[in-house]
Amino acid sequence: MKKTIMVVEDESDIRSSLKEILELEGYDVLTAENGLEALNVLKASAKPNLILLDMKMPVMNGWEFADQFRKTYNNSTPIVVVTAAADSEQRAKDIHATGWVSKPFELGVLLKKIKECEN
Ligand SMILES: [Mg+2]
Repeated sequence: MKKTIMVVEDESDIRSSLKEILELEGYDVLTAENGLEALNVLKASAKPNLILLDMKMPVMNGWEFADQFRKTYNNSTPIVVVTAAADSEQRAKDIHATGWVSKPFELGVLLKKIKECEN
């Protein structure tokens, strides 16, 4: 059965290329352009196997999304922070993420991290 990855990312170019790449890799992909949209998408979808989460987004950022997501659902869905920041490790720790990938990411690095973290 196909695994599902949710991409939460405000930059449309990154969001659409991640969707395309992950679909080519055989995943079903849900996308949202900010945390609030992601919570709304999740109300109508099966829970994803992993969430790729940008941190700096308008409307609802990654910190608030992670907090709301875990309050609403549970802690077992891995969240991988995808952030441009030099402090990506710290941002991942902020939200107790399963892992992190720094932008700009190499495709191979991202896919390896997903495989390590997915459940
Ligand atoms: Mg952003």
